[in-house]
This record gives sequence, structure tokens and C-alpha cells, in this order.
Amino acid sequence: MKYTCTRDSGVSVSASQAILAGISPDGGLFLPESYPRFSSDDISAMAKQGYPERAAMVMGAFLGDFSAEELDSYASAAYSRAKFGTVAAPVVKLSDSAHILELFHGPTSAFKDFALQMLPYLLTASARKNGVNEDIVILVATSGDTGKAALEGFADVEGTKICVFYPNGGTSPIQKLQMTTQKGKNVLVTAVDGNFDDAQTGVKAIFTDAEYNAELLKAGLRLSSANSINWGRLVPQVAYYFSAYCDLVNSGEVSAGQPVNICVPTGNFGNILAARIAEICGLPVNRFICASNSNNVLTDFISTGVYDRNRPFYLTTSPSMDILISSNLERLLYIECGSSAEVKGYMSSLSKEGKYQVSDSLKQAIQARFDCGFADDAMAADTIKRVFAGSGYLADPHTAVAINVYDAYRARTGDATPTVIASTASPFKFPLSVLKALDADCSGGEFELLDRVAKISGLTPPQGLAGLKDAGERFIGSIPPANMRSFISKGFIG
Ligand SMILES: *Cc1c(COP(=O)(O)O)cnc(C)c1O
Repeated sequence: MKYTCTRDSGVSVSASQAILAGISPDGGLFLPESYPRFSSDDISAMAKQGYPERAAMVMGAFLGDFSAEELDSYASAAYSRAKFGTVAAPVVKLSDSAHILELFHGPTSAFKDFALQMLPYLLTASARKNGVNEDIVILVATSGDTGKAALEGFADVEGTKICVFYPNGGTSPIQKLQMTTQKGKNVLVTAVDGNFDDAQTGVKAIFTDAEYNAELLKAGLRLSSANSINWGRLVPQVAYYFSAYCDLVNSGEVSAGQPVNICVPTGNFGNILAARIAEICGLPVNRFICASNSNNVLTDFISTGVYDRNRPFYLTTSPSMDILISSNLERLLYIECGSSAEVKGYMSSLSKEGKYQVSDSLKQAIQARFDCGFADDAMAADTIKRVFAGSGYLADPHTAVAINVYDAYRARTGDATPTVIASTASPFKFPLSVLKALDADCSGGEFELLDRVAKISGLTPPQGLAGLKDAGERFIGSIPPANMRSFISKGFIG
């Protein structure tokens, strides 16, 4: 199977080339030229398997230049019991129609682990398949979740190094500790004096600095990115929607072939796009429900066909959805309209004016599949409290946004179709917001808050978070943005 580009349908590359490149040179994103199709027999066969086998089967259909043996071995290592517990992506029943797909049982307690535990294998194999002999150096600028998930994925992976920059004072105390205590021979972490944009701008400048890239190449190092627009991050996410469907069939909640709704708390549009791709490949879906927080650029887009990033930016209790440019939406536009020239026009208007309006037919195609809604912080907090009081289920603020939007959808439409709601983070990752929502005592340090969430919910804090209390910090101090290059060179070249 070959991959084309959202801005130039003349592009045709292999899966490994798409993964290695990350983004097309014209700024477009890679998508399959045609999609695999899973029959109901395939889905029944998948239903008998465990998570790693399901993931390998789904990914194998997309990654033509990877063998089944390769993908089996990557999936069993990436989604091992040691990393994801006994069930990697459990489905928990919340009400007669709502089922929570818990995607936070990986090492960093957020759904990004599904992609970032797999990506190192895909990336190093892609390098080998394309005759790249240098070590891959992953650079990440992070405001929290992505940095830690990437560190956990790449730590001690042969043939890779990873360097993470986070804004000094710009992450939660727990997020900072998650990164500064990271183990591994091939990892570097530092705070950068500045905000997230300073760190991000610094990383972008390094990627495009030809002289510095040449210097690294001479030392046997090649820069690469673990960015969420990489196809290698998207394809592992398609698998868990099939897995959730299999589990619902296995438990008798849906009958084989019966459509479900899928509701996803959305930021960069990667996670919900993976669900749409699963549908193209044969997953029976009735509606997608795109849930946003106060940064509701996607709610407006799906309702009106106008995407406009010129609006206030809010810092919310669901920080991983605080995004005004949803990069992966470009892929949906291409999927629904099929014209790279049309997508290129929209993207050029987005970069020039910060907005675009899609054609009526494209708007209708999107509205035919997607419903949408948003919940602000107060609504999300109210949902955390209400759901916990009603069913004993404790949701994190991102998941709460999705539950709120789903409840509103159901009330508005009366649609009682069984619905999979993606839960993207553990409530233990945001203990302060969760305790506030429950009107509980919010005093004390981060670890007291964790213990209090545990006590109230009866859940056990994830070891990756609780264990931070006694983990020694390895990476202390900060650097000015101007020193990012020398920090990498000193750490990786010597
Ligand atoms: C990244 C993230 C999201 C948003 O996912 P997208 O794929 O960017 O839409 C939602 N919730 C959590 C907890 C995240 O870390």
C-alpha cells in the first residue's frame, strides 16, 4: 500500500517512507492511497484475540512494507502486560448506552502511550528499510503530556536518542517530575527559560538549520520528530477502536455488525480521525461526536463550515485540548473531499488569514458523519461530580468534556445507539481539578492530592505517578533558548 499527500496527490511513497519523513516536503500530510477493509469475519477473528494481536492485525493492513512477524513482535513489546497491565484498552459500562474506552493504562497515564510506545519500533525499522544508518535523534518541545510519553517510548531503544525541552515553570509539578526523573541511557531533558512557544520555536529552528544538521550527520545522528502528524502515530490509534468494538460484541452489549457512536475529546484531531479511518476500514459507526473545551474552534467548524483560529485562547482544566490549530483536521478534509488542490487552498488560506471556509458539499459530507459540542471548565467539573455521584465512575477533565458533550447529544437527538466514549487520561493525572470538581479538600502537595483521589475513588494511583515521589531527579536546571543546540551536542556527541 502506498501513501499520498493531502496537498499533492502526485506523491506516492511507501509506509516506511511516510513514517520516516513525518511530514511531506510541501507541508502536507500522508494518507493511504486506498484503505484496507476488515470484513465482519475479520472482526470476529479479532474479537478472539488479545490487544497486541488486534493491534498487529490492524496495523499490518496499513503498513505494506512491514512483515506480520515484525508487527507482532513490536505490538507484544509495546503493549506488554508490564507496560499496560492485563487489559491494555478496557471498555467500562457507564450507562445503558455509554461505554468508556479507557486509554490511560499505559506508562504515562494518557492515551498518547498507544502511539508513542509503538512509534520507536516503526521509526527505527523505517530507517533500516530505507538504508538510513545514522542514529535517530527525536527532538520534542512539550507543554507536558507528549514529552513524557515520548521519553517513555524512546528510552533505551537501540538506534535512537531523545531530547525533550519543556518551558521552565510551564508544566504541572507532576508533569515536570515525570520528565526530570526519566531513566534511560539515550535521554536528555531540560527546562528552557521561556514559555512553550519559545521551546517550540527553538526546536523548529534546529530542524531547519542546515549547518547544524550537517554537523549532527557527521557525528552519525539524524534529527526526527515524534509529532502527532506522523502517520506512525495515527495508525496504532486505529487499532483500539476495533478493539473496543470487539469487546462490546464479546460482552453482548452490541451484536456483530451493529453500528456504534464514537465520542472523542479532541485537540489536534488525531484521536477522532483514527476513529473515522477505522470506519472507512469496516468498523460499523453511526455517528462521530467531536467534543471540545472552551477552545471550541472545531465545534464552530463542524457546525458552520468556517474554520477560524482568530479567537481568544483559553487555558483550561483540560490542557491537552487547548489547541487552536488542529493539524490532523487537514487529513479529514482530504478524506471527505478527495481533492488535494482543494485542501491546499484551504491550508494556504489558514496560514495567510488564520481561517478558511469549506465548500457546501464538503461541509455536508463532514456533517453527515460528525456531530459536535463543547463543554467549558464549569460544565466539565459539574460532569465529574455528577458522574461520580451517579455511578461511582471518576473521570479526568478531558474525559469529562466528552461525557458532557455526549449527554447533550443524546438529550438533543434521542439517539440511544451504544456509544464508545474515549477516556484519554487517568483522573490521577489531574488530581487538583478532580478534587475541586468533587468539592473535596484541595490542600497539600501533589502526592497528598494523589492519595486523596485514591481514598475518595477507591482506585489505586498508577505506579508511574505514585512512584515519582521517591524517584531521584536526574535533569535539573534550565537553559536559555539560545543554548538548545549546544545542549544537544554536549549530551549526544560529547
Ligand atoms: C493529546 C490529548 C488529547 C487530544 O487528542 P488529539 O488527538 O490531539 O485530538 C485529549 N486528551 C488528552 C489527555 C491528551 O493528552
